[in-house]
Amino acid sequence: VEEEIRNLEQGFREELGSISTLEALGVLRIKYLGRKGKIAEYFQKLALVEPGQRPGMGKLLNILKETVASHLAEKEKNLSLTKAVSGTEAPDVSLPGISYAVGGKHILTQVIDEIAAIFYHLGFISADGPEVETEYYNFTALNIPAEHPAHDTFNTFYLDFRNKDRYLLRSQTSTVQIRVMEKYKPPLRIISPGKVYRPDATDAAHSFMFHQVEGFAVDEGVRFSDLKGTLFAFAQKFFGQDIKMRFRPHYFPFTEPSVEVDISCIICANRKPTTANRECSVCHGKGWLEILGAGMIHPNVLRTVGYDTRRYTGFAFGMGVERMAMLKYGIDDIRLFFENDLRFLNQF
Ligand SMILES: [Zn+2]
Repeated sequence: VEEEIRNLEQGFREELGSISTLEALGVLRIKYLGRKGKIAEYFQKLALVEPGQRPGMGKLLNILKETVASHLAEKEKNLSLTKAVSGTEAPDVSLPGISYAVGGKHILTQVIDEIAAIFYHLGFISADGPEVETEYYNFTALNIPAEHPAHDTFNTFYLDFRNKDRYLLRSQTSTVQIRVMEKYKPPLRIISPGKVYRPDATDAAHSFMFHQVEGFAVDEGVRFSDLKGTLFAFAQKFFGQDIKMRFRPHYFPFTEPSVEVDISCIICANRKPTTANRECSVCHGKGWLEILGAGMIHPNVLRTVGYDTRRYTGFAFGMGVERMAMLKYGIDDIRLFFENDLRFLNQF
């Protein structure tokens, strides 16, 4: 009988070890200490053993009972503590998981990545340049001398008026064009995405800071038709295969000839500008949307960086990233990009 009691204790320890919830512990307590439990059962058996052995047996059973009780108490304390700390006793695999918010790319970063990827497949690689520039790179080298009337149209954030070579926040990414051409010889096919700054009052269509993607190609025999083909391939990939494109004559100091480029309205024109809808909030019935400015790089610009203009020609274009995103996704307020409202950002 003594051995049976030791086996009983052994069995209890094993069962206790495998318990991980307070509920299961309660069941175990009843199994051993309950009125009809295993230990009570042995106390009843005491009546059957020889009277001389009863005190010894009784003592053993009482010790066992105390041991079991103290182990149960300790285990209960541990489980309660675990529950308090983790809020759960043991992993319940049937519960829904806790989802953690993982960050995503900002819509503007996504659009820049997409534009860069399309031009990468057209043979363009990406270049970067400083946002703080000198007047030379922002104006002079781009055929906009200080006294040129065009200078006034590029209202600019100047940083230091005392300095002879005045520093400013670049008002266009064309500055990178000059920096790359100074450093490398043709052939070049480059795009340069980045921030630009203009002291515009902020409203639904204007921001003092926005993003541009500048692009240019210089090589022997680069023609206007190369510009058209490149931009059309890009616009089809970005806005859809069935858009139409048109070029309107324009003026920029750094390109000649210069054009503004439109695509057929992607909202109302159903990609057929002839059916343009007067009520359309995007094109206002015009059927066309201006997407960028472009042209053949002015020979003065190529000369500035020391290129032989009899040998090399090139084209350049510049587009506003916010504008591209607004047209593509039907966003009607440029301020949404910079307010960092997750209800807006999470839609992309
Ligand atoms: Zn429209």
